Amino acid sequence: MAQLIAGNWKMNGRTRQAAELCAALRDGAGGLGCELVVFPPATQLTAVAGLLAGSPIAVGGQDCHADPDGAHTGDISAGMLRDCGATWVILGHSERRADHAEVDDLIRQKVEAAQGEGLRTIVCVGETDEQRATGRETEVVGWQLLGSLPRDFAGVVAYEPVWAIGSGKTPGIDEVAAMHAFIREELVRQFAEAGRSVPILYGGSVKPGNAADLLAVPEVAGALVGGASLVAVDFLAIARAA
Ligand code: PGA
Repeated sequence: MAQLIAGNWKMNGRTRQAAELCAALRDGAGGLGCELVVFPPATQLTAVAGLLAGSPIAVGGQDCHADPDGAHTGDISAGMLRDCGATWVILGHSERRADHAEVDDLIRQKVEAAQGEGLRTIVCVGETDEQRATGRETEVVGWQLLGSLPRDFAGVVAYEPVWAIGSGKTPGIDEVAAMHAFIREELVRQFAEAGRSVPILYGGSVKPGNAADLLAVPEVAGALVGGASLVAVDFLAIARAA
């Protein structure tokens, strides 16, 4: 199966930068062997979906609310993302878990809402440095998987060690392989045969220089890229490594 290279722009970009990035991505995206999706901030979603229409690059939201509509000031529902042209959504990113105190149960409800709207989901899991230092990384990730994924989960999982995000640090190749093997085991335990086909991405300081090694790890089905996804040449270089 083609690998998935996902670019999470986070809270970055104004109209001009988004337009420049989209133009460069459109130019470079032809003939790549991977699937590409970008996650602009909500304010740029409609524009980016328009700019990338007809290209091989899909567009997604960085979060959604669990409810379809209603009195939730500042929030955006899965249906609204769809309405803007999104076909994907990231849920449970560690920055949402930390900045907005999102817990597994809420993330699961969001996944259900997103799936109900026909959005493809990337659900993020990963341990902090303190949790890894005390040998609890698989325990933490195991609970996150159990709590965040609904029974009819049909999306993608991203393993993103919190300490690797934006830090320039990555786990060793053996550590990535071990965690991805563990996640696969847990998915099979949770979903039986269906758990074998859930793609598992790696995320956290993926750059052009380390992408080929990380993407070659068994059970790594692609990458969730933050910082490097804001630079078209870097994002495209990562995509070429897939
Ligand atoms: P990074 O972010 O590539 O900047 O480390 C990854 C992410 O948060 O998805």
